[in-house]
Parts: sequence; C-alpha cells; structure tokens
Amino acid sequence: MSVYDEKVWLRHYREQDLAPRTIEFDTALEMFAATVARNPEADLIRYFDGSITAGELDELTDAFAVGILDLGFTPGDRAVVYAQNIPQFVIAQLGIWKAGGIAVSANPMYRSRELAEILVDSGATVLVAMQQLYRDVAQEALHDNETAVRTVITTSELEYQSANSGTLAGVEKIECPDTVDLASMLAKYRGQRPPKADLTGDSVAFLTYTSGTTGPPKGAMTIHRNVVFNAQTYRDWVGVDADDVILGVAPLFHITGLIAHIALAELTGAPLVLMYRMDPADTIATIAREKATFTVGSITVFIALMNVPDVDPASLASLSKIYSGGAPIPPSTIAEFQQRFGHYIHNVYGLTETTSPSHAVPFGVTAPADEETGATSVGVPVYDTIVRIIDEQGNDLPAGEVGELVTSGPQVVAGYWNKPEATAKGIPNGTLHTGDVGYMDAEGWFYIVDRKKDQINTSGFKVWPREVEDVLYEHPSVREAAVIGVPDSYRGETVKAFVSLRPGTDATPEELIDHCKTRMAAYKYPREVVVMADIPKTATGKLLRRELRTVSQ
Ligand code: AMP
Repeated sequence: MSVYDEKVWLRHYREQDLAPRTIEFDTALEMFAATVARNPEADLIRYFDGSITAGELDELTDAFAVGILDLGFTPGDRAVVYAQNIPQFVIAQLGIWKAGGIAVSANPMYRSRELAEILVDSGATVLVAMQQLYRDVAQEALHDNETAVRTVITTSELEYQSANSGTLAGVEKIECPDTVDLASMLAKYRGQRPPKADLTGDSVAFLTYTSGTTGPPKGAMTIHRNVVFNAQTYRDWVGVDADDVILGVAPLFHITGLIAHIALAELTGAPLVLMYRMDPADTIATIAREKATFTVGSITVFIALMNVPDVDPASLASLSKIYSGGAPIPPSTIAEFQQRFGHYIHNVYGLTETTSPSHAVPFGVTAPADEETGATSVGVPVYDTIVRIIDEQGNDLPAGEVGELVTSGPQVVAGYWNKPEATAKGIPNGTLHTGDVGYMDAEGWFYIVDRKKDQINTSGFKVWPREVEDVLYEHPSVREAAVIGVPDSYRGETVKAFVSLRPGTDATPEELIDHCKTRMAAYKYPREVVVMADIPKTATGKLLRRELRTVSQ
C-alpha cells in the first residue's frame, strides 16, 4: 500500500468537515434550473449598474437556444464565444447548452490566426462575438480561413450598461453587417422555450483550449459532470452560498472563470459581479460598492490591487474569501496582502484538464510553505481525487520525493477534442499527467516546484514556446528561433526569444518584437529578443532550452 492509498490528506478534510460528496446534478443545466426554481427574483449577474435575475437569465437563455436552433444549429454542434467578461457570455453559454450544443470559449486577446485555430479545430458552426472583436479580429479570421461557421451573432459590451461611465467610457455601438444582432434575436424569441436538450453527465459542456503538456492548442472536453463537481468543490471548500457575492475578475473564457464564476453562481445563486476587464482601481470600487465576498484570480490581480495608492482597507472589508490560482504565489505576497487588507489569500491549483481545482487550501487554513524553495503549498487534493507523485518510470514516490503529479478524479476531463493520440498520451485511462513537478509532505500537503512541460506561465496565462517560435520563423530574416520563460517579479514569467539570422539579412530585436506583437495575443509576444550567432542544440538538433535559461540568468 502506498502513501496515496492511505490518503494522509484526508486528515485535513476531517478537520474541516469536508467529507467526499455525491455529485448533485447530472448536468450544469439541471444545476441552474434548481437555482432558478429556488429564487427566480434574485440577481444572478451584475454588470456595472445593470443586473439580470435568475428568472430573467432563464428566459434569455431559452430565447438564445430557440434563436440558434431556428438558425440551423443542431444538438452536438459547437459554438464559439469570443468576448470579454460581459453578461452575454453567460447568456450564450447557457443558451448553447439549452440547444444541446457545446460551448467553446476563445480568449478575447486572441488575434486572427489564434481565433481561426479554434474555429477550425472545433468545427464550430456558430460564432458569438463582441462587436469590436468581430470588426477588428474575427472578420479577418473568417475571411482568411476555411471554417464551418454559418452564423455570426454579434453583441455590444454596452448592452447592459451606458457608455458614459467607468471602464466603458468612449466605447460605441458598431454596425456589423451580415451578422445577427444578439439583442434583436433575444427580443424576437423571448417567451419561447426550446425542446429539452438531450444531455447527460457525460455530454461535453465546454471545449476549453489549452496547450496542455505537449503541442499546440487542444480543446479539453469538459463534460457536464466535471462542471457540476468542481462548482460543488468551490461551494463546499470555500463555503459559498446565496448570501455571497462573487467578484468575477478572472477571465470567463478560462476554466477558472467558467467554474469559479459562472458555474458557482449557477449552483449557489450567489450573484456574479462581472468585471469587464481587470482595472485595479475599478475593481476596488466595485468590491466596495457590491460588498463582494469571494473571488479567485491570479497573483497578478492581487499585486495590482496592492499597487493602487492610498486604498482604504475598508473598501475590501467584505472580501474575506480569497483564492489565488493559475500560477505560484509566494508566502511574501500572501503576507503583504494580509497585512495591507486583513485577508489571507488561499492557494488553489489545477489545470484546464482538471476543470480548475484538483487541490486547494481549505478555507480558513493557513498553508505551509516549502522551507527550501519558499513555495506556498497548493493545498491538498479535493475530495474524491487521487493525486500521485511518480518518477520517470511511472512508479509512485514516497512523501517528500519530487516527481510528476498525476491526477485522477471526477474533475478530470474526458480527453482532447478529436485528438485521441494526445488524449492517450496525456490522459491515459482518465489519469492526467500534469507535466507539473512537485512533492507531497508527510502531512499530505502538496507543493509544485518545477515543470516538465515547456509551457511558460505569464500572469497565469500559458504560452507554448512553439507558437511564438513559429511566428518568429515567419520573419524573412529569422534562421532559428528558441523561446523560453524568464522570471519576472510582476508576471511570474515573461517570454524571451533567442534568434539567429539568415546570412546577409538584418533585423533588430525591436523589429522582431513588433513582428510578433501584431500577430499574437498581447501576453504572448516576446518582451526581449536576443540575436545570437547560433542557438545551442543537442547533437540531434533539439533546442537546449535549459542552456538558454542559464544564459539568460
Ligand atoms: P491552465 O490549464 O491554464 O489552468 O494552467 C494549468 C497550469 O498552471 C498548471 O499545470 C500549473 O503549471 C499552473 N498552476 C495552476 N495553479 C497553480 C498554483 N496554485 N501554483 C503553481 N502553479 C499553478
């Protein structure tokens, strides 16, 4: 029997009264329906000065489903939602499920080629886009690529908010010819109900794109059971109920936003206050105005809040349930935040492939830190979840020894969309090989100390070096390119590129940075480019990223 079978971490559950739970609903739609039935009049979404009650959201999402079915969408089809944190994101997502479909989320920072990758890979027939993103990005992506998209629905971020206050000042409505206007579609079908969608716990709810541990972006197939289970995890581990107010500061397209914001609100009935984007001063004002009680974000959010000058700690008084995930958070940041605002930041860990958390620090408990590296523990595995640490041969390692984390549990996704080989490699028999390296201590606390995968983690956003290298190779002067992550005090890591040039050509680092900037999401382009004669490689021509990391220190 190994330490994992003994499940030493269970001790912490007992201390916290966190017994394993049953999954309470088959689908996320049933979970939402129960909340609507409990209190249809309660606000479920708040956005600037507008709000939508649970009952209204139910009606609007019915109308959305009837509308897209009328436009030719069929159950099982995919629809991509490409928007900032706006109420229409939630309307579209629930509406897609009610039409029996799969909701695919695209990062609103994506440029044309990145959006096109998702549209093509998912085979989506519908695209729901914010007007501005349609005009600036999606139009080009659709024009330049063969996609299956037949219907484009556009919407304005002003729909639930006037243009002359806060973050949206100066934003205008944009004409998007040849697209369906969402507000008109909802008005047309309001009051109608779609036929009941034929969904089960095994039906795919989302395709959430991630570079995973290997290769280019892949659509993780998050099934309805995963969604319900991890919404319950947040509810029970943090202790969130209808009296809480969720601050929606994590991007909704990411699994954290999908679960800890949207699904958690749908399960508990706690209103979700959507932050259009992370503006630190605006966020503080919103917390104070809405008396937000719970949030989860990446470390960058908390550093940004601490960087706002002269904040009265009373503005954050209500926000006692705070979690940080997606990237490491050192004890010093947690301590500084607590000293400044009086609240402890709990660590939470997981991947897109674990539908967000597989580990968390139970609410109210202070996580230990690794004495040598100073890494804050990511917590203990959440209930019904087994996490082992294995060596290169796949053997279990005892407590204290460092290896790869492999996870199995009800939150592990069903695989990657249309990529059976990647699924067999990364998630064999439903067990996820995380690519994260760490250990478990004798008390059952887990620590992440390194990564096996090449992924770069910048403010919680993940960058796959190959994506950046491919773009660099498109520059006529680039002969070789290698991209790595380098430490950064604000973002955790930033992207750095090394290139060698073709003989007889010339390119400055600034020119190469600009080349990337126009072709990829803002968090991905290299902040620094070093031009060198030759890039270090092994005898077989493989890039020596580790050596480059040493060079750059
Ligand atoms: P994503 O699929 O975008 O959610 O990214 C998952 C990756 O983020 C993990 O494999 C880790 O490398 C990293 N990660 C997530 N949470 C934490 C955490 N609390 N501490 C350290 N790394 C984290």
